[in-house]
This record gives sequence, C-alpha cells and structure tokens, in this order.
Amino acid sequence: MTDIIQLLPDHVANQIAAGEVVQRPASVVKELLENAIDADATDISMILKDAGKTLVQVIDNGKGMSATDARLSFERHATSKIKSAEDLFQLNTKGFRGEALASIAAIAHVELKTKRETDELGTEICIEGSEVKSQEVVVTPKGTSVAVKNLFFNIPARRNFLKSDTVELRHITDEFHRVALAHPNIAFAMYHNGSELFNLPVSNYRQRVVNIFGNKTNEKLVPVDEETEVLVVSGFIGKPEYSRKTKSEQFFFVNDRFIKSPYLNHAINSAFEGLLKDGYHPSYFLNLKVDPKTIDINIHPTKTEIKFDDEHTLYAILRSAVKHSLGQFNIAPVLDFDSNANLDTPYNYKNKQGQMPKIEVDRSFNPFRDETAKSSGGGSETMTAPTYKKETAPHWESLYVGLESQGNKNLVDFESLSFESDSTNQEIFKSDAIETEKTTFQLRQKYIVSTLKSGMLVVDQNKAHQRILYEDYLKHLTLKEATTQQLLFPLELHFSTSELGIVKQLQSDLESTGFAFSEFKEDAVVVTGVPVGVPDSEVSIVLEQLISDVENDVPDQNFSSSDLLAKSLAKTLAIKNGQTLSQEAQQDLLDRLFACKEPSVTPNNRSTFVTLGIEDIDKKFML
Ligand code: ADP
Ligand code: MG
Repeated sequence: MTDIIQLLPDHVANQIAAGEVVQRPASVVKELLENAIDADATDISMILKDAGKTLVQVIDNGKGMSATDARLSFERHATSKIKSAEDLFQLNTKGFRGEALASIAAIAHVELKTKRETDELGTEICIEGSEVKSQEVVVTPKGTSVAVKNLFFNIPARRNFLKSDTVELRHITDEFHRVALAHPNIAFAMYHNGSELFNLPVSNYRQRVVNIFGNKTNEKLVPVDEETEVLVVSGFIGKPEYSRKTKSEQFFFVNDRFIKSPYLNHAINSAFEGLLKDGYHPSYFLNLKVDPKTIDINIHPTKTEIKFDDEHTLYAILRSAVKHSLGQFNIAPVLDFDSNANLDTPYNYKNKQGQMPKIEVDRSFNPFRDETAKSSGGGSETMTAPTYKKETAPHWESLYVGLESQGNKNLVDFESLSFESDSTNQEIFKSDAIETEKTTFQLRQKYIVSTLKSGMLVVDQNKAHQRILYEDYLKHLTLKEATTQQLLFPLELHFSTSELGIVKQLQSDLESTGFAFSEFKEDAVVVTGVPVGVPDSEVSIVLEQLISDVENDVPDQNFSSSDLLAKSLAKTLAIKNGQTLSQEAQQDLLDRLFACKEPSVTPNNRSTFVTLGIEDIDKKFML
C-alpha cells in the first residue's frame, strides 16, 4: 500500500489557521491595529466599509517595512517580534505569533503599502487568497497601510455566517475602544462608510475615556492608584450611582493589553458589594502593570485571556485598591425613595452581621404550617427545624446536606424551637399578637404590607421571592429531588460553542433543578423539560441569564456552582415588581418567606423586608 500522509499546501494551512485568528471583521481590526502599535505608530486611522465586510483599512505612521520584510510578513510564523521561546516570557509587543497577516491574506484581498523613514520609495504588495498578485515599488508616506477587502471571499459559509452590519460594527467598535483605551498616547481615528465615528487626539487617560464614552463620563470617574511590588494599578472606576445594566464599560488592561478575566472582575464586584442595585454592573477602566515574566499570554489564540502566576494576590490587591478609592472619595449611594426605591441597598447591613429584627406576628401567621403538614404526614406538632443561624449564604448551604438520610431526626418538637433558635428570632414566631388574618395589601405592586403586633411589616415582593426560590433550588440541587415539567414541544435553543460549554458543564446541576435535555448539537441544545413553574417562554431567558452569570462571576475558593445556579434561577424567575398579587398569593409569599432559613436577606444579601415599630410611628406624630 502507498503512504497516505501528505503535508498540506501552505494556502490550505493558512486558511485553517485563519479560522482561529479571524472570526469576523473585528478580528482583522484587532490584528491590524495591534501591528500598527507594535510598529511604534503615533497616529493610526481606520477606514471601514460595510462594517468591515467590504473593507478594513488601517493606516499608520509607524516604522514601516523593507521590501523583503513586506513580502515575508505574509508568511506563516513570520515575525520580527520574537526570536526564541524565551522571548515569550518578556513580551513587550502585542503580536508574536506571526500568524495574523498570513491568515488574513488567505481569506481576503489584501493590499499592503509600506515605507521606512530612511527609504526613498516604498513597497506595494497585493495578495488574494494567499496568492501574491503583484509587488511594486511605490511612492507612499512613511508607515504602513494595510487594506483588507472582501473578507471571506473564498469561504462563502463564513461570509454568510457574519451578522448584520450593526452587529459587526459593534464588534469592531468594541475592539477599537479596547485598543484606543490602552494607548492614550497614540492618536486614533475611525471612519465608517465615509463618516467619522471617532477622532481621538493624544491625551491623558481620563481625557481618552471621556473622548470615547462622552463628556458626561467625566463626572463619574474616580481614580484608582495603587503601587505594590507585584502589581501597579491605575485608572478609574465609575461611581456606584453610575453603574450600568450592561457590562459594556468594564475594561482591564494588563501591560497595555485588553484582557478578559472573570476572576479579577469578581474582585471589583466584591469591592463594590452592597453599593450597587441588583442587576447593575460597575464601570471600570483599569490598567494593571505586572512583570511580563509572571504572565502567560499564550493560552488563547486571540489573546484576550492570560494566565497569571499569582492570581490570588492580584485579586486581593485589586479589591483593596478599588475599595480604597471608593472610600477615599466618599462614595455613597443616593437614597431617593420616590424616584428609585430599588436603591434601598443595605450597605450598612454588612457591619451589623445578621442582626435579626425584633418583630412579632400573629400565631395564625405560623410559617411552618405547610411544613408541618408535609413533613410529619399531618396531625402531629413536628416540623422541619428552621435553623436560624447568623451565618450567611456560603456556609448555611451545608445545612441541607444529609437532610435526606437523616430523615426524621430533623423533625423537632415545636417547643424545643424556642430553646434551640436564636433568642432574638423567636419573637417572630412566638407571638401572642391579636391581629386578624388576611391583613396584607400590596403597595405599588411592589411591596406587601402587613401588620405586626409591634407595628408594620413591609416586604419587597421581588426580593422575598428571590430568597424563597433560592432556598428551594438549593434544596433541590442538594437533594436531587426536583420534579420536571415535560414540555409538549421540545425547545431547540441556539448558543455559541462557549455558551454551550457552560450549559454542559452545569448539565447535571440543571437536571437536579428539573431541567431535562435530550440532545446537545453543535450550536444548540434541545430542552425537553423544565423546573415546575418555569413558563416555556422563559426557558431561553433563564439559560441566557445563567450563562452570563457564570461567565461574569467566577468567585474565589468558596465558589459553588449550585449556589450560583440557585442564585441565577432565583433572580430570573422571582416575581417582578409591577406584578399584581392576589390576597392569597401575598399571604403565601409571606408564609414561605418566613419559612426560609434566612428570611431577612436575598441571596445577595439585600434586605427582603423592613419593619416599622409602633414607637417609630408614635414618634412621627409627636413632632
Ligand atoms: P506578529 O504581529 O505576530 O509578528 P503579523 O502577521 O501580525 O505577526 O505580522 C508579521 C510581521 O509583519 C510583524 O512581526 C512585523 O514585523 C510586520 N508588520 C506587520 N504589520 C506591520 C506594520 N503596520 N508596520 C510595520 N511592520 C508590520
Ligand atoms: Mg500582529
């Protein structure tokens, strides 16, 4: 038999490599801008047509190339930036793989013009699908211009896969922002279909941020500066009251390179803890300088992820630097009940560590009513022990562990409760209040108001429900006992590869909550069942939210995927503000809330209810 292995021709190898390097026009933008920066340009312009699908041209005033280098630059693994493997550990350039130009030239029409300062004349090279069409001597200014036309002209499948111009232009703008933010000392301009979108002169960092994101940004920036032996942090964070619903203003740069780091992002979030409204994200523009020896940029082909030697230390330094800035600039949320009741962040709560409110309620308000019936099989006075500990979420999750096997051992006598539980808590349940039943009403479709013997109880319906669902899901996850509601028609939901990866990774946990999947395809997952109570229409929202939570929230060692899953589901599925609740639903919500193990706070440590004592009310009338 003859041998069957053969080396792939270069243009095929290049096309394959291009698949990794060039996903869309924005990838070309990134590579060309980075090359211009590596060439020490001080002025870079970018011209786009049709969101880069027809043309991406980057013109720089950098050091240019000789005729030979110009020709060589399109070879695979042709780079002037590293010579040996050791150089990888002291990179001062963006590029180093020598792959970008070769890859781009394999899947587009490329025109390169370049001239070094010392040369009289420059070089022009035209390449189409790795094939050199022409090389000429031309008159051209110092620097380099690379025009990439008709991207994916020879791979129609990839071309068809591109999104609308709006979407592709957004990706390009994102890349442009990342590069421009990392280099305020370079002037940038960006034009699209003949109009100027950005014109950024050389400036300081604050000015650069403002030039990109608008004048209003200026007032929200708080400087961060911290210098330690292993890390120098500089840049800005946004004041909490300017936090956003999207994560579009979150930037980390490590040695002038934009990176994504869910872990470091978590450090920032934790510094902001208690200062942000639910679902809002802090803005940050932070530059980290570390010894190039202590990072490894090589783990991702498009190089937005890097590995740090000592992530934990960086986490701690970053977190404290941000906290310090927040404190120093005396940032406190503005409490404004009328316009923004969502801002009722109990950020003082942290220091008060689990102090339970002293309130009393009617005995008919007994939160264990349901539990009693369920767990004891009816009749007897036993129930599941509500273990009111002062610990918060990460630890108490373990309370559920072993619940199943211990069976009846967990059912304790009601009387022993008052002995076992925290003394300040009993009052909630051991009340001799004489209020009538059904004393709830809904305020602004947002709060449920009820009376207590000692005053008034105001429960935030959304937050309370989050707590209830969170504990439910956590229980299901631990005991693996959830019931599934079969879908009449299986739902095929489309996701990207990395998103599908997250779903797969959480598959068994998701199944514990009631999800059922019949198939994982290349770009989709088929859902056949969902947790009871999840409407069909919400399934994709639930999964999308979950994916985004996982992507953006990789906490420290205490990380538990069940906890994150339960939080995410609770957040997405909780009753929203603005939803009218029937009398029964209101009552049921209160009963279930006070049957929770930690009724007073949401999974994210926000208060679920407030009380107003009779004395407080009395005082108001004394003035
Ligand atoms: P890398 O950037 O990883 O070295 P590229 O394929 O992006 O690989 O570029 C190959 C080489 O071409 C670079 O190492 C550099 O020497 C040269 N080059 C590319 N773009 C420019 C430019 N705008 N100005 C000067 N030289 C450039
Ligand atoms: Mg490069």
